[in-house]
Parts: sequence; C-alpha cells; structure tokens
Amino acid sequence: MIDLHTHSNFSDGSETPESIIETAKKIGLSAIALTDHDTFDGLERAATKAEELGVPLIPGCEVSSLYNQNTSVHVLCYFVSDSKSPLGLYLATLRQDRISRNERLVTRLNELGADISLDEVEKEAGGGLIGRPHFAQVLVNRKIAGSLENAFNVWLGNKGKAYIPKERTELRELVSAVKLSGGVTSLAHPLSGSFSFDQLEQNLIPLRELGIVGIECHYGKYSPGTRLKLAALAEQYGFIPTGGSDFHGKYKPELSIGTGEGDLAIADGVLEKLIAAKPEL
Ligand code: AMP
Ligand code: FE
Ligand code: FE
Ligand code: ZN
Repeated sequence: MIDLHTHSNFSDGSETPESIIETAKKIGLSAIALTDHDTFDGLERAATKAEELGVPLIPGCEVSSLYNQNTSVHVLCYFVSDSKSPLGLYLATLRQDRISRNERLVTRLNELGADISLDEVEKEAGGGLIGRPHFAQVLVNRKIAGSLENAFNVWLGNKGKAYIPKERTELRELVSAVKLSGGVTSLAHPLSGSFSFDQLEQNLIPLRELGIVGIECHYGKYSPGTRLKLAALAEQYGFIPTGGSDFHGKYKPELSIGTGEGDLAIADGVLEKLIAAKPEL
C-alpha cells in the first residue's frame, strides 16, 4: 500500500515531514509521497527520516493551475526536488505571488470586519508557506468562525466573502516545466475542482495531449464507488490511476495517512507505472 498525496507543515499541513514518514513506517506503507503546495522545502527532512527508517520517499509537490484559461485544477508533480530545475524555478514565482495574495487577504478580511493580522497567520503557519487553512485556523482561534469548514464557507472558500484567488498560469506551462525537470504529473482530486464527471471525461483527451499521465482516482474523500468509476475512466483513456489521502493533519482531521477516511488502499503497482512514465532527459 502507498500514499501519493500528503502535506506537511512546510505548506498547509500541521505535521512535520519526519512525523509523516514515521506514520508511513508505522502503518507499513511501501512508499509515500510528500506533496506540499508550491514548495520542495520539506523534502530534504523527509528524505533524511525516510532513509533512516527505510521508507521509500517519492519527492513531490501540488500546484494549482488553470486549464483553458478558466478551469481551476490542482496538479500533483512527482520525482522532482531540485529547486534549480525548471519546476523549482516555477514554484519560486508562485510563492512570490502568494506573499502579495496573503497581504491582500488580510486587508480584505479587515475591511469586512474580521480583525486578524498577518502576524497571527504567519505564527499559525510556523514559518512554512501560508495557505488558506492557516487563515481559517486563525478565524477559528479568534472565534470569528465556528469551525474550519465554517471559515471556508463564510470567508475563505471560493464562494466566501473574502475569497481571493491565487495567481495561476496555464496548465501547459506547468506540465512542460515538470517534464523538463524529469518528472510526471497527475490531475489531483479531479472531481473536487471545476469538473463534473462528464466534463472530466470530455477533457481527458486534451489533458493527455498536454502530457498529464495520471488521474487521482483513489482520493481520500471519494466514495469507493466514485473511485472505481474514475479508475475505469482512467484505464479507458490511458491514464495511470493514482491515489492518495490528501493528509493535512489537524486542518483535515478526518483524513489519515495511507487510509484516508479509513477505506483507502492504493496498490504498489501504481508507483511502478509512474516510474515507467518518467520522461527521458
Ligand atoms: P490555498 O492554496 O491557499 O488557496 O489553499 C488551498 C487549500 O485550502 C486546499 O489545499 C485545502 O487544503 C483547503 N481548502 C480549500 N477549500 C476548502 C474548503 N471548502 N474546506 C476546507 N478546506 C479547504
Ligand atoms: Fe492543502
Ligand atoms: Fe488540492
Ligand atoms: Zn492536497
């Protein structure tokens, strides 16, 4: 069993890279990917612990992107960890954009009566990259929101009153940077963004032509039935059916490493297929 989608406190998870590897060891995973948003910064510490415990680590990251200029998608990128690679340089520009977004988000929240400061959010993020879950936690801490879910529904989610989207660039650019860096991409939680099942199907041929090799069919939050339907679709269109928990620690307490909500089990063979799909450099 493997897990190809986890977040540490280097982005918007609450647990350290070491603790994620320790859990992977404890539950007997045969490999785990760390896929923090927009950064490779947790990978070195994860790799040190992974080597010590003998847990195979797949370096990864997750990036938001735009497909056809208007459809927001998340992409999991695997096998790249060099910050000087085309993907590494690309991530650096995304982190820069986040800094200005965070400032605008605080201003917007303040204007709307949610009196929080960037300092508090930075403290919540503990020195890692800042994402909306950190803002959500601060809103909860300050009793401005009743729960993380409520913070997203009322304030931060894409229908929330303080929503500020991230800068995104075209998917083509991202996929190309990953390929030039020797990595592969999989479309993350394909039904949790802009696509319905039918829309996803309609776009699989162009997505494959862009160079995406995987679809995250076995996603922690999807029902077993949905996972099977997605896996059949992936097979039909020639994608690797990847999977992962999307573990975020306390920010998504219902999701566990490896097992998601308890019923996830991703076969080792998926990783072998991803390795076989790596581009020649
Ligand atoms: P950001 O990258 O700063 O835009 O934050 C995106 C992260 O926010 C996602 O990876 C999720 O972890 C979290 N998120 C987005 N929407 C929701 C939601 N409705 N409820 C809970 N968490 C969410
Ligand atoms: Fe996240
Ligand atoms: Fe995501
Ligand atoms: Zn994720």
